[in-house]
Amino acid sequence: MTTAAKTPCRLCGNPELSLLMDLGRQPIAHRFLEQPEEEFKHPLTLHYCEQCGLGQICDPVSPEILYKGYNYCFSEWKPEPHRETELDLICAHKQNAKIFEIGCNDGLFLEQLQLRGQQVCVGLEPNSFAKKFATEQRGLHVYETFLDEDTCNDALAKFGKFDLVMARQVLEHVPGIELFFKCVNMLLKDDGMVFIDVPDVGPGLKVGDCTIAWEEHVNYFTDNVLNNLLDRHGFTPVEEKKFNYSGGTLAVLARRKTARDVFVPSHDYLPFSRTFSERVQHYGARLSQALTLAKKSFDQVVIYGVGCRACALVNGHNLGGVIDFAVDDQMERQGKLMPGSQLEIKSPEVLQKPGAKSLVILAVNQENEAGVSAKTLAACPESHVTFLIVMGPTNIEQELDAFIAGIQS
Ligand SMILES: [Zn+2]
Repeated sequence: MTTAAKTPCRLCGNPELSLLMDLGRQPIAHRFLEQPEEEFKHPLTLHYCEQCGLGQICDPVSPEILYKGYNYCFSEWKPEPHRETELDLICAHKQNAKIFEIGCNDGLFLEQLQLRGQQVCVGLEPNSFAKKFATEQRGLHVYETFLDEDTCNDALAKFGKFDLVMARQVLEHVPGIELFFKCVNMLLKDDGMVFIDVPDVGPGLKVGDCTIAWEEHVNYFTDNVLNNLLDRHGFTPVEEKKFNYSGGTLAVLARRKTARDVFVPSHDYLPFSRTFSERVQHYGARLSQALTLAKKSFDQVVIYGVGCRACALVNGHNLGGVIDFAVDDQMERQGKLMPGSQLEIKSPEVLQKPGAKSLVILAVNQENEAGVSAKTLAACPESHVTFLIVMGPTNIEQELDAFIAGIQS
């Protein structure tokens, strides 16, 4: 079914987009509450393009509302197991290079490149806290602004053209893709390369996982869609990598294409996009039923993890009424309420009640599941804890089947 979207496709200009998923009115996922209150809510609707496959939010929440009083996250706070691999990948192709990073955050990655011998490392970062850290603590040259042509001209005047322009976890936030690549093209030497890393929604699309949706992400990529985008803007991949990080991450290093580089779109994820909404609804209804049933046989039904994916899961499937409370390791979140569901966030210590039977819904990224469950079991030797995995890339439909079979037996 196609719907007349408010805007044409950001990648290919197709005026007719199809519905990927409509989660209704949702709160802002990073906004924890101190006490119950009437929250700002916005429609969280994702579309996709039948021609190029790009998933997109057509009418994103304005940045003034979204990032007001933003509880900022520095890159050092979040472990990135794939960081070393990305650094190696770049340094295998570019040495003693001039590098420009769009959205450099606190400058951690640029500093690492510098330590590996890259010659000039310049960043751009709109967040003033992160920019201040990158310049004052790391001594980097960082522009505090959103990407625009004036800034590119200034950087070109100061440093000349660059060997590499990079953006990690940035392009999914950018509604102005044309301007983004215009700037990349301005900044880059003829033999320069571009390095891009974005979330991979492929695994989530396959398993009907609604937690791919986040209001801060306006674009949703699979590998072929990202390569299609690069091709349109004159680039062809040199190396591609996929990481099991935060539900799936794609990284591509690309050079300017020549007449011999022909891109063939695969449309490999279109069948999953077409049935996605239906599968999400079906999964949500079954999960809700299963949790309702579980409340009869468990003393407490708890969600472990309160990040943006947990928020999409609870609110997208309307699970607030069938979960007792949430737990999270981060102390600064404890005592607050989750957005939307307004579930209370407690310390994981509450699971240690001797003799208690707890169902723990694991709303943490797959790479952290084993650590969290092992730690929980070790901390609760006298209670009975059952885990349920609810986020991709795990096959969550199969996990739910097994869980339902378990509680019915
Ligand atoms: Zn398109």
